[in-house]
Amino acid sequence: MSILNADLHCHSVVSDGTLEPEALAARARANGVDLWALTDHDEVGGQHRAREAAGVHGMAYLTGTEISISFADTTVHIIGLGFDPDNVALQTGLRATRGGREARARDMAASLAQVGIHGAFEGALRYVSNPELISRTHFARHLVESGVCNDTYEVFRKYLVEGKPGYVPHRWASLGDSVRWITQAGGIAVIAHPGRYKFTPNEEYALFSEFKTHGGQGVEVVTGSHTTSDYSKYADTALEFGLLASRGSDFHSPAESHIDLGALPALPKKLTPVWEALSERVQHP
Ligand code: AMP
Ligand code: MN
Ligand code: MN
Ligand code: MN
Repeated sequence: MSILNADLHCHSVVSDGTLEPEALAARARANGVDLWALTDHDEVGGQHRAREAAGVHGMAYLTGTEISISFADTTVHIIGLGFDPDNVALQTGLRATRGGREARARDMAASLAQVGIHGAFEGALRYVSNPELISRTHFARHLVESGVCNDTYEVFRKYLVEGKPGYVPHRWASLGDSVRWITQAGGIAVIAHPGRYKFTPNEEYALFSEFKTHGGQGVEVVTGSHTTSDYSKYADTALEFGLLASRGSDFHSPAESHIDLGALPALPKKLTPVWEALSERVQHP
């Protein structure tokens, strides 16, 4: 089939989204998506439901996840696409990556308490569906609902980010482990939204070259987290490093996300879409 509208990045209640996988599938289809991937943070628990729901709506599906890693003292996200969701090594690695989240969340709440915001752990927990996946997004929802901030954008300016109350440094998976978990499960690893990291040019070069050395093959070029100038910058990076290009909204919630599923510009024509290399892995409806 010829893919017109691929959206290979979004989140359900299995991580920090607000919609069930089935509701996301319906929304993606209504927005004209014809190839979809659900990419919950550090989790593949929604994959079977998402794949089935995609089929119900006549959409092609690729399995997905978004792995949190630490690189050069920065949290970076690596997307996996087209892997076997039942692969044991991948599942074990993801479980270990999720493992530190509860202790981190308690430390985040303690840091918020120091500026007079009490009960944030319990507050955030009310928004969590998957107990292993308490994230900053759940804290952000609680801080908005309890009137501390007007919206989640304000939260991520004033709290939960480096140098602000509620920020707790954390050691995630390594770059090499994340790429290996994905590729050994038959998938392709993709650097998510590179425009979001505050790397120096040297650090960014190191990320891309080490990623390639470990067997990484793709980069997200068109994503809800990028500006239009990021689109052209990372299109050039894809060509420079010989990487496949991906496209995904990073949709989390109808109330919070400014880019809806399937509502992004097309990839620049000079790039090779990641799904062309994954045609064997696409689940057709
Ligand atoms: P965590 O994995 O717990 O560190 O949470 C990271 C999540 O917080 C991301 O996946 C986003 O959903 C959300 N997030 C992080 N930074 C921002 C930001 N500046 N604006 C809005 N959401 C953000
Ligand atoms: Mn998220
Ligand atoms: Mn991300
Ligand atoms: Mn994401």
